[in-house]
Amino acid sequence: MVARKKVAVIGGGVSGLAAAKVFDEKGHRVCGFERSHDFGGVWELSRSYPDVQTQSPKDLYCYTDHPMPDDYPEWPKGPQVHAYLHSYAEKHRLARLFRLNTSVKTMERRADGAPGWTLTLEAGDMTWTEDFDFVSICTGQFSEKNIITHPGQDAFIERGGKVLHSSEYTDPSICAGKDVVVLGGSKSATDIAVNAVKNGAKSVKLVYLENVWRVPYFVGGINFKRLLYMRAQEQQFNQWGKNPLQRMIAAALKPLVWANFRGLETLLKTQLKLKKHGMVPKTPIEKEVSCSVPIVTPGLIECLDKGQITPVIGTFDSYTDAGLKLSTGEVVPCDVAILAVGWKLGVPYLPQAYQDKLIESDGQYRVYRLAVNPDLPDMGFVGFNSSFCTVLSAEMIANWLVRYADGQLKHQPTAAEMNANINMMLNWKRTERPAAQIYGGLCSAPFHFKHFDELLSDMGASKRKRTNPLAEQFSYPNAAAYGSFLASTPQYQAG
Ligand SMILES: Cc1cc2nc3c(=O)[nH]c(=O)nc-3n(C[C@H](O)[C@H](O)[C@H](O)COP(=O)(O)OP(=O)(O)OC[C@H]3O[C@@H](n4cnc5c(N)ncnc54)[C@H](O)[C@@H]3O)c2cc1C
Repeated sequence: MVARKKVAVIGGGVSGLAAAKVFDEKGHRVCGFERSHDFGGVWELSRSYPDVQTQSPKDLYCYTDHPMPDDYPEWPKGPQVHAYLHSYAEKHRLARLFRLNTSVKTMERRADGAPGWTLTLEAGDMTWTEDFDFVSICTGQFSEKNIITHPGQDAFIERGGKVLHSSEYTDPSICAGKDVVVLGGSKSATDIAVNAVKNGAKSVKLVYLENVWRVPYFVGGINFKRLLYMRAQEQQFNQWGKNPLQRMIAAALKPLVWANFRGLETLLKTQLKLKKHGMVPKTPIEKEVSCSVPIVTPGLIECLDKGQITPVIGTFDSYTDAGLKLSTGEVVPCDVAILAVGWKLGVPYLPQAYQDKLIESDGQYRVYRLAVNPDLPDMGFVGFNSSFCTVLSAEMIANWLVRYADGQLKHQPTAAEMNANINMMLNWKRTERPAAQIYGGLCSAPFHFKHFDELLSDMGASKRKRTNPLAEQFSYPNAAAYGSFLASTPQYQAG
């Protein structure tokens, strides 16, 4: 009999909702804590910049039992994703499990010596502690803004200039008639640059460190989900854990793989006019693909063509009386500086001693299956990793994690097995695939199928692939199909 546990779920975004649903369904007592006034995480309306839109097509950004509505566009807008997440919470009555406006401030091992953790919680001016048998951390990668400053910033603001983090760019009217400089080259940076143009900015500069490969929604007229999100494509990247035979096959196919990626690069260079705009990346695309590859913001190339956005390779140096000085030495006019410099990865409420076990000195995280660390007992992560299909990935990991917590994986790994696997993965990232070190090594793209295969195998799923081998090789991860694979795992109930 699996004992019923009291489980804390920290965070009420995509991942917290998935975790709460899965632990609740298995019969555990779930207490969710969300520090905001609303569910949704990055999609919560007050945190979203205008025009925010998914990078993933809608059928790659949904839970297994809850497709996005038919009348949603292929790439839904932020408010639509927010409404979708609410509809999922309603469908599974998840609101009853959460306390909103409640932050987790610290977590310590339980003082009574029982397994689990004591959380310090804060809601308004109330602070209290509560014991839990298991903690599911679902605070994601976008909870703590990366705040950077440059010399002269205070005086620039005193003179009427504005400096915002990308998540604070919620009122585009501030751009009208202004010189806008966006720092960063990610999707949010280009989204904001295009939005600033649309909202009447006098000039827009996009300042970023290096050119990266960007993927348009349609590559050569074909929705990128039909070209790039396939097992057949995924196998062409240098995956971890290849056996000698797989290595031999990979070596034999190398020229074909090389040709495939050069073809893709040529297509992207032509379609996105990368040469014309001085935006051709130096790294071959197959080495670079990871969670950091941005989708091209609709309108970006047109804005570049018309000179409405000027790309500059460099960074900010300082704010001066004459304008914003860049690392190139150029001084550019600037009224509004938007820092699209991302978020700080971490678990700030976890004691330092545990953070030291979790994070290596080079910033790489030690997590098995992107979910647990054997030295951090009675807890796990859901959605700590980036991915190209985060909703499905969170649901898959949540399903794995509840079984891990309950000792119900088909093969419950020992600490030694987990550490050996973690070390193998770290070695692979450091020596064979440096791109996989992005975001502390917490990125499952472009290896979604392989990751899901491992999770399903651990869970003992009798069905892990679609029956049609061609569909399995040449189509994207289908959420409903993964729902049926999860249903083929041994079922149990706690309590
Ligand atoms: C603009 C944007 C577009 C994106 N588009 C895509 C896409 O198209 N495809 C894709 O796969 N991914 C996309 N992502 C990645 C996205 O982060 C994930 O898809 C997903 O929304 C992450 O959900 P999450 O629940 O893991 O984290 P979050 O959405 O960050 O939710 C974490 C929650 O934890 C709460 N929290 C944090 N700390 C505490 C605390 N101490 N106590 C209590 N609560 C706390 C936060 O308030 C937040 O609500 C996008 C991200 C951004 C920012």
